[in-house]
Amino acid sequence: MATPTLSTVRTVVPIPNVIHIRGSNAPAPVYHALFSLSDADFVIRSLQGTLYRIHSYTLRITSGFFESMFSLPQPKNSLISDVLDVYEDDFPLELLLKMIIGLPIPRWKSLCDLARVLALAEKWDTPGPLSIMRNALTAPQFLHDHPLSCYSLATHFDWKEEAKIASTHTLTLNLSDPSYSLILGEMSSKDVLPLLDLHQKRRNMFRELLDSPERFAAGNSSAYHCNRCGVTELDNSMWRAFKRAMFLEMERRPLGDTLGVMEGSTPDWPEALACWEAKCAKDDCRALNYDRIATLRQIRACVSLLPSTIDIQ
Ligand SMILES: [Zn+2]
Repeated sequence: MATPTLSTVRTVVPIPNVIHIRGSNAPAPVYHALFSLSDADFVIRSLQGTLYRIHSYTLRITSGFFESMFSLPQPKNSLISDVLDVYEDDFPLELLLKMIIGLPIPRWKSLCDLARVLALAEKWDTPGPLSIMRNALTAPQFLHDHPLSCYSLATHFDWKEEAKIASTHTLTLNLSDPSYSLILGEMSSKDVLPLLDLHQKRRNMFRELLDSPERFAAGNSSAYHCNRCGVTELDNSMWRAFKRAMFLEMERRPLGDTLGVMEGSTPDWPEALACWEAKCAKDDCRALNYDRIATLRQIRACVSLLPSTIDIQ
């Protein structure tokens, strides 16, 4: 039987003779259970040797890669229509082909798994599966565990909404930590800069807000006197030390949800405690310098004013 070319595959629908291709000493080829229908006309082989029989028409209408490939004139004696080695592992291949033919796929176990299939979907230019996987990228677990990788993938595919969501979740990270330099270095500068800008803006704005005499009159006003006796000028060294500690914490974690206190059983910071315990130096006054509740409320109000996503259109 003459070996069909790609152009004849589309009309003649031959059944690929894979045993012949692999040679008489090779193990018998194994078809994937979900991709073994005998009326399908095209066979893909994975790196592990698994065969996937699928309609070439399906590949052609769902994949830009196969659309181009099937539209090219095939050289005489081409073996490509018998079985196509795609040099891909079974894992991404099976999942992508399932999406291509409309079969359900299991929940993603890891962002790494998702990234592997995304890479193949991009290579094969399959908009349908890409749109399905796009939704998975902002799964809460992925955003929580790997916000920077989510951001990197979202910007790679130019998925702006997902990039914005992921950028917010990167605010738990200190991007100047060397452990992130590899992933940041692999991203294009047009994607890294908005993220660095967001982190920088939060730090700068927070510093301005925290230094505001309107928001923190007792700590930031010059020559501020004790509220009760009106005599003693406040010694604000404790407040300044607390602010420095908060600036450092915003470098470490720009989300700003850990400032000063107070989640669960975590005790107040020493710098914060020193502030709340600071008293007027006048013996018969000893009023507290700062209102703890009001000051913490104001700090949280400042954090809520900070930008929380990258600034892109
Ligand atoms: Zn006083």
